[in-house]
Amino acid sequence: MILELTALALLTCSSRIHEGWGFLCDTYSDFSMTVWGLFCSLVVGYFLGCVPYLLLDFLKIPFFEKYKVQMTRYPSKANLEKCCLNLFVLFFFVMLPMIAFSYPLFKSIGVSREAPLPSAFTVILQVLFFFLVEDFGNYWLHRWLHTSWAYKNIHFVHHEYSAPFALAATYAHPLEVVILGIPTFAGPVVVGPHLFTLWVWLMMRQYEAVDIHSGYEFPWNLNCFLSFYGGTEHHDYHHYLYSGNYASIFTWCDAIYGTNLSYKMRKYSRDC
Ligand SMILES: [Zn+2]
Ligand SMILES: [Zn+2]
Repeated sequence: MILELTALALLTCSSRIHEGWGFLCDTYSDFSMTVWGLFCSLVVGYFLGCVPYLLLDFLKIPFFEKYKVQMTRYPSKANLEKCCLNLFVLFFFVMLPMIAFSYPLFKSIGVSREAPLPSAFTVILQVLFFFLVEDFGNYWLHRWLHTSWAYKNIHFVHHEYSAPFALAATYAHPLEVVILGIPTFAGPVVVGPHLFTLWVWLMMRQYEAVDIHSGYEFPWNLNCFLSFYGGTEHHDYHHYLYSGNYASIFTWCDAIYGTNLSYKMRKYSRDC
């Protein structure tokens, strides 16, 4: 009975998505759906992801404090205001123009909104591939951002907060946003996905950035079930010590290149 109900729910959901997509294609131009659609995916993934953590930081409920990686270190009102201003500039004056200017590129690699929509399997497989490419590219670019010149001139902005919070996930110098956009779009450039898949990818990527900057390590976080997923504590450590744990998504790059040794020693000594 449960299986039948689940199958029915999935079928209804899938047909609703197809109907909704058809409506959008009939109403909006290809340019609008690509540029504004991708921009909205970024915004939705980011701000919906932030809402629960913002509430927790705002309410400071004692029960949840034990889940905070850096206990008692909450963002101040001034931190949040400064962050919002930076995000407004980044989203509207850096990311939106980047997406708009990339429209011919999306077309040239075969990004299309035409029916039929890709299957759930294709979307999942391609998004997983994008995460792998993103993680590897981001790891090396992040290491470069920690070289003397790049840190002093670009990356220092992202490290302004040694105790990260959800809203600060993309808090960065505009140049950093442009540089780290390369691995985000490298996977799609190789694959040439459907526009719908690209929407899903950008939303998931934004949500993942919020997740690792949330400052909360809950027992239901993905890294508790998948040991190769970095998660909050992994990236929190990077902000706390300004070095090590350079990867943004998975743990294997730091393990292969030995940049997680101090984190592992610290974790081992704390757990013993
Ligand atoms: Zn860094
Ligand atoms: Zn960070």
